[in-house]
Amino acid sequence: MPVSKSKPATTAKPKTKATLESKLAKLGLRNDMDLVLHLPMRYEDETRITPIQQAGFMGGNVAQVEGVVTECDIQYRPRRQLVVTIADDSGQLVMRFLNFYGSQVKQLAVGTRVRARGEVRHGFFGAEVVHPTYKVVEEGAPLPTALTPVYPAGEGLSQAYLRKAIGNALTRVDWRDTLSPELLAALKLQAFEPSIKLLHNPPSDIDEHALMERSHPAWIRMKFDELLAQQLSLKRAQAARRAKGASALPVIGELSNAFLATLPFQLTGAQQRVLEEIRADLRASYPMQRLLQGDVGSGKTVVAALAAAQAIDSGFQAALMAPTEILAEQHFRKIAMWMEPLGVRVAWLTGSLKKKEKEASQAMIESGEAHLIIGTHALIQEGVEFGKLGLVIVDEQHRFGVGQRLALRNKGLDPTTAQTVPHQLMMSATPIPRTLAMTYYADLEVSVIDELPPGRTPIVTRIIDQNRRDEVIERVHAAALEGRQVYWVCPLIEESEALQLQTATDTHATLSAALPDLRVGLVHGRMKPVDKQLVMDAFIRAEVHVLVATTVIEVGVDVPNASLMVIEHAERFGLSQLHQLRGRVGRGSAASICLLLYQSPLGQVAKQRLMTMRETTDGFEIARRDLEIRGPGEFLGARQSGQAMLRFADLETDQWLVEKARDLAQSLLHQDAATVEAHLARWLGGREEFLKV
Ligand code: ADP
Ligand code: MG
Repeated sequence: MPVSKSKPATTAKPKTKATLESKLAKLGLRNDMDLVLHLPMRYEDETRITPIQQAGFMGGNVAQVEGVVTECDIQYRPRRQLVVTIADDSGQLVMRFLNFYGSQVKQLAVGTRVRARGEVRHGFFGAEVVHPTYKVVEEGAPLPTALTPVYPAGEGLSQAYLRKAIGNALTRVDWRDTLSPELLAALKLQAFEPSIKLLHNPPSDIDEHALMERSHPAWIRMKFDELLAQQLSLKRAQAARRAKGASALPVIGELSNAFLATLPFQLTGAQQRVLEEIRADLRASYPMQRLLQGDVGSGKTVVAALAAAQAIDSGFQAALMAPTEILAEQHFRKIAMWMEPLGVRVAWLTGSLKKKEKEASQAMIESGEAHLIIGTHALIQEGVEFGKLGLVIVDEQHRFGVGQRLALRNKGLDPTTAQTVPHQLMMSATPIPRTLAMTYYADLEVSVIDELPPGRTPIVTRIIDQNRRDEVIERVHAAALEGRQVYWVCPLIEESEALQLQTATDTHATLSAALPDLRVGLVHGRMKPVDKQLVMDAFIRAEVHVLVATTVIEVGVDVPNASLMVIEHAERFGLSQLHQLRGRVGRGSAASICLLLYQSPLGQVAKQRLMTMRETTDGFEIARRDLEIRGPGEFLGARQSGQAMLRFADLETDQWLVEKARDLAQSLLHQDAATVEAHLARWLGGREEFLKV
């Protein structure tokens, strides 16, 4: 919509104060300081006027021109539009408005002088601009001396209104700096007031590049303040968690010891170390909040089971939640196989259970008869009550939203006091880059399993053109005859689930036909859980040689005898997804191979991804490159990334500031409560609840 500064008063309906206030509130602007901290997203240079002729040759760049209206017509071809011609000494310019008000026709009468701004193009009939912003001016009206800020605005809030509201707020706020001059000097930061004022009204001779890139010292100060507020707030949330009670789970007794003794393998050094970290946390009477990170296949499950054993030894229940039914079922079987002989009652709860079975499970969970409860999202549904939940474990935690994780934790709230929460152990094979760990995950302890169980042979990855599919099928055949089992992963088709299903069924049919002497199975997301399980079981028992699968096998599936994986249209998958998929092989002692089929021509990014897969199997290295290719915003999804709470700072380019802010937050929290309060009040106001995740 064309924004003319004189227009709203005449054409827009008068807005009541209340509606404007609610629109500001939608942007999070509740008080003067919020307005002051509402900084421009960009600037427009209205300090200069370009002669029309010159503007016509600027190739679509934004220019500001001034001229007198020589023609003003409504035309109907090709569609109704207002066409206004203005002229200065150098030439003339057509302004075209496809949407306009009747009042504008009057306002732009012949002889009127206007200042217009927009992308001037050299059109068929000379210089032309579509939907310029403009205003009517007197001859010789002064030009602004500062760049004009453009603010993030919600619907129904004009730039003019925001500028005015912010301008007023600038005269009213308390400008006291939250950081002392000594601190500012030590951190080489600029003072608050001049920084803010400069960002709202930058002088026309400013280093525009630094301003736009947000590398100007004034921006640096804002970013630092914002990051400091975030760090302070996260650290306080951590302190609040510690102030909450949890039931201590101090007993490492009969079950834990018997379990370790009957395990068919020795824990690796890394597993041993993280187990000790978890054991120490569980002994405390404030809730553990620990992230257990370890590459695919590093053996997180057994560590989780040992944590559960400690809870059970201490007289409490433990719950394990997994993101898919296949994975939950696999955990259930494996852990039940380990623990049931030792007298542990394991309950199973997923959405696909029949009503009767579900009720039976729920009764066991509520009475406390079940020691260990394993399931999917069904665990957090209403009606599921735990008798005495002491520990919750969330597998593949990045697959769950914050709300779902909290819901499981809240299942263990002591209903009488609401003060005791269960200990939490989260597991993930997606390593979190350092900057993200320091921001969003600041309230987590992190344990890392950085060693794979012994005897694994590395996976060899090959990149192969899709048109050599026949050769690949030959290889699959040969491998199966040697007793290896094969995953054949179908292409991801994001646009259409139906199409993806179709592809999976087609692939299953062609492979079955091409390999008549082999058993080819099919598993996809739309199958009933029981059917899925039948196929998985047959694969686990090695009755199926080749398993055609969609990405349902992406997380957690563990069939050690599978040692060849084919991924079709590998170029369509993301890096971490490829890594997860590939992690399904290389779990046994046989040398494993992963064949990435691609459709040429490959784009630059896809090529980079496939090369990365060929070069390394190290999940941390892959995550690092993924971050490089994608940037942190996308890395974990905006909601999880911590970037979501940041308006100015960028976790990638401003890492050095994150570190400074974290260090200062630490020392302020110990030494200077007044500064902490002042800083949080200024930057977060009442919004701190957003951060308590
Ligand atoms: P992830 O960390 O990907 O969840 P899992 O817990 O599924 O990995 O473990 C992968 C496989 O390695 C499983 O078959 C598991 O039983 C086995 N495993 C785990 N720890 C060890 C160990 N210390 N020695 C040998 N095998 C192990
Ligand atoms: Mg796992």
